[in-house]
Amino acid sequence: MIGTGGTIAGRGESAANTPAYACSVLGIDEILSAIPEAAALASFRVEQLLQIGSENFNNDHLLKIGKRISDVLKDDDVDGVILTHGTDTIEETAYFLHLTLKSPKPVVVVGSMRPPSAMSSDASLNLYDAILVVIHPASRGKGTLVVANDEIHTARDVMKTNSFKLEAFRSPYGALGYVVEGEPRYYRKPSRDHTVRTEWSIDALDSLPKVDIVYAYGALEQEVIGTVAADARGLIIAGTGNGNIAARMVEPLRAAARDGLHVVRASRTGNGVVIRNGAQPDDDYGWLVVDDQAPQKARILLMLAISSHSDDRSALQAAFYRY
Ligand code: GLU
Repeated sequence: MIGTGGTIAGRGESAANTPAYACSVLGIDEILSAIPEAAALASFRVEQLLQIGSENFNNDHLLKIGKRISDVLKDDDVDGVILTHGTDTIEETAYFLHLTLKSPKPVVVVGSMRPPSAMSSDASLNLYDAILVVIHPASRGKGTLVVANDEIHTARDVMKTNSFKLEAFRSPYGALGYVVEGEPRYYRKPSRDHTVRTEWSIDALDSLPKVDIVYAYGALEQEVIGTVAADARGLIIAGTGNGNIAARMVEPLRAAARDGLHVVRASRTGNGVVIRNGAQPDDDYGWLVVDDQAPQKARILLMLAISSHSDDRSALQAAFYRY
């Protein structure tokens, strides 16, 4: 069990969470010791890898977490890993692990919306459920999983969709399963390639190319594109609706793509498919589309795809349809 901070490691002065609680203060050993039932389920080794809110996680943190989990998974004594994590960016770290770990052993990423000190905290139950999921044979080979609020989600799809409710995590096609009466129950499997079936290994990655996200809105200014293009290899444009691009943004984006920036159309709705050559002639402009990936997930995938395919745009596009 590897701790990185977040609300699951938070503590408030009062159970009412007023004033606001402190995030990332409890050690992973303290969090685990709040669940006496855990000892009967498995034997645990715990380590504190980080102790910070996940809103701070950059690419170096992703690499550090991935490499450590990869090392731990190579130990024959280890059957699976639980990573405790802030919920804000849990979907990005989990997806990165899902694409780069090379093991069928289960990895479960878990956080909570309320700190352990709060009334009706979800911290202990989410962690207990994560333990039930990681030790269950049916969890093997499913890639990285995110457990929250009685549900088991695939890292590819899950997103935090609410800023404060316990029911914050959603996958567009539904959860893979539930934890019911102390037992994981799966109803579906991830269908896109992950872990042992991807082209990336965390052990071989030492840096990630810079990919930025630009969020489209009515008054978005053209100059933003030049600023991004100055030092990024890729740009996810979180367009309106079906990846629509305002007329005044087309030329700056075309120019950036001609100069080597990989421009990928996504949807700021965070749901649905962006259709290639639909709202824009992507073939003509040398642009790409995300398929159904939300902008923050698409950034993770594009970084990895550029790391192995560099400037081959048809291979980059294929990655969005494969993973
Ligand atoms: N700062 C937090 C984070 O690490 C807040 C959210 C949470 O963990 O629930 O993401």
